Amino acid sequence: MATTSKKAAPGAAAKSPRRAATKATPKTAPKAAANAAADDDTGQEGAASEASATEAIYLSLLYAIMEHRLLAGTKLVEERLCEVTGASRARIRQVFARLAHEKLVTLVPNRGAFVSSPTVDEAREVFQARRVVEPALAAELAQRVTPAKVRSLRRHAMEEDNARARGDRAAMIRLSGEFHILLAEMAGNAILEKLIREMVSLTCLIITLYDRPGAPACAEHEHRQLIDAIEQRDAARASALMAEHLEHIEGSLDLSMPDSGAPDFYSIFSKG
Ligand SMILES: [Zn+2]
Repeated sequence: MATTSKKAAPGAAAKSPRRAATKATPKTAPKAAANAAADDDTGQEGAASEASATEAIYLSLLYAIMEHRLLAGTKLVEERLCEVTGASRARIRQVFARLAHEKLVTLVPNRGAFVSSPTVDEAREVFQARRVVEPALAAELAQRVTPAKVRSLRRHAMEEDNARARGDRAAMIRLSGEFHILLAEMAGNAILEKLIREMVSLTCLIITLYDRPGAPACAEHEHRQLIDAIEQRDAARASALMAEHLEHIEGSLDLSMPDSGAPDFYSIFSKG
């Protein structure tokens, strides 16, 4: 298993961003890219296009991590990313620093950047935090929901169904996460929205490490029940359903294994 990871990882790091860059961009993520494009009118085209190029590389890596095309422990080879994206080392490092700040990438001195491997304890902490924040956000949204927001939530649920119907597990995992981001975005608290974005990405990583084989990311009927409660402006039910839903996701993971069982990727990649 260790040998496979050693061989597969650098290639995966080099190939995935190119594939990800050609994918359709989901509507909930590239806010900053849109902002960067909007800045063109200010006459600072150079700075704006540089910012959006950095954002594009960031999003490519983020989606690759969320869709499990880049697995926990994978080394992100700086030179290969420069080659594939045409970006400078400085820009790639800027992206690594942002991903490290979001705990998705771990920077190891003299060894480079690795996709993080959250421990069992960290996984539990992420779910604990989500259980505190997300039921409250769901209740908040139920109180301020509009027909347009409900339509948007239902459209998203349909995208999840389509991904499920065509057996696209990578898209299913990402879209499941993005449903939670969309709820947070609609609830209208920018600080909590940022927190949820980070926790959802981390959850995607945690699922790669601790998922039981065959367990779905988010059960689709639970998202639909949540939308129904929100549409009916039933804040108490929306909150309770979200709490249950998060418990189910955590329950579908195998967090019983001791941390020492996780592979030591730093030593595997130490020669690279
Ligand atoms: Zn969900």
